[in-house]
Amino acid sequence: MLLRHTPTAVAERKSVTINPAKTCQPVGAMYAALGIHGCLPHSHGSQGCCAYHRSVLTRHYKEPISAATSSFTEGASVFGGQANLVQAFNNIFSVYDPEVVAVHTTCLSETIGDDLPQIRKKAFEEGKIPEGKYVICASTPSYVGSHVTGFSNMVKAMVEFSESTGKKNGKVNIIPGWVEPCDMEEIKRITSLLGLSCIVFPDTSGVLNAPLTGEYKMFPDGGTTMEELKATGDAVGTLALGEWCSGDAARRLDKEHKVPCTVLDMPFGLQATDRFVDALRKIGGVHVPEELVVERGQLVDLISDMHQYFYGKKIALAGDPDQVIAMTEFLVSIDMKPVHIVTGTPGKKFEKRIREITADMDCEVNVRAKGDLFLLHQWIKNEPVDLLICNTYGKYIARDEDIPLVRWGFPILDRQGHQYFSTIGYRGGLRLLEKMLNALLDRKDRDDPETKFELVL
Ligand code: SF4
Repeated sequence: MLLRHTPTAVAERKSVTINPAKTCQPVGAMYAALGIHGCLPHSHGSQGCCAYHRSVLTRHYKEPISAATSSFTEGASVFGGQANLVQAFNNIFSVYDPEVVAVHTTCLSETIGDDLPQIRKKAFEEGKIPEGKYVICASTPSYVGSHVTGFSNMVKAMVEFSESTGKKNGKVNIIPGWVEPCDMEEIKRITSLLGLSCIVFPDTSGVLNAPLTGEYKMFPDGGTTMEELKATGDAVGTLALGEWCSGDAARRLDKEHKVPCTVLDMPFGLQATDRFVDALRKIGGVHVPEELVVERGQLVDLISDMHQYFYGKKIALAGDPDQVIAMTEFLVSIDMKPVHIVTGTPGKKFEKRIREITADMDCEVNVRAKGDLFLLHQWIKNEPVDLLICNTYGKYIARDEDIPLVRWGFPILDRQGHQYFSTIGYRGGLRLLEKMLNALLDRKDRDDPETKFELVL
């Protein structure tokens, strides 16, 4: 009973978070930066912040995460970090020779008030940033928002490099949001099935799920190139997957380069994938190929086969808003009952959206944006559930309350393979269903008495 002190009585809390369902902004900014080819993320703050951001990403993706830091000490904390950052640019480009450095701020540099674009300008003027190299600057104060906000801020900052020539290039921009590298691969596979040419940014496929070849590459082959990023300004349109992760970047592209944008839910589950495919079909003026129709049919088939096990099962769900919204819709569509829903990221729109999705359920739904896992645990104590869907931190609640857990979201620190097995699109839906059913039936096998222990379920 590691969480034995969690009380059943829920008290209203405003100024304290217990067992957060989020992490800090720069973690998201660093993940987004890794989706640019040849990019070295740079943390403008103290070494401790950078070490934490790197370690949480390394533990989730099981890959070495390279990143630089401005290494603030007492002097920089008082007088500002300009000298450190200018020196850092000089060192980074001399020693590691990346094509791009993506700088994000931290709590400390934000509190001091360091102006990243001004420091970048000075570094350019002093020749510390070589010709033909790029520096992306994102402001990521971690005392507001979450890792999702940091991801969004970095992706929005990337749009600064979009260019419009006045001539459309026929491509579709897709901003995939914070999904696994394999999910980004799956998005590209679906668009190629439709015969569309797309620019996915950021794109961590081939970076954080790169093959082990015996040869170390500090900058793996994957990632969106700067040429592709520039070309986003000439695209015929942008599909942003997830309001929280991708909406701001898409709207900036629209505003600055007149690239019309559509903000969709992340394509997890049947309906959200249908909307994604339909949007691709419309934007490209193409037909949905038979291969995709078959994949959809297979997902519908599995839903109908498994329905008897899922019907009426109560779920507690925690994660990032874009993922949780799509997952809630998927769960409701297969007649499960997501009754406790939490995201650590702020945003009242989240609660409104979840209320709309669950409006027809014949039971009460607890939902909270800027919530925490302590609250989720309390809700579960008051109304037990059949299944918990959460990141690794949910394992403490699952163990204490003896409920099966499906690990999904970020971070997953105690299991492997999530960077290879996509849960997005129709095929990903199959995987989600399999994970949920296995968790439920493994529990049934564990608990059934010998007289009810069946070979065939
Ligand atoms: S000080 Fe701020 S930026 Fe640094 S690790 Fe903590 S929350 Fe993140």
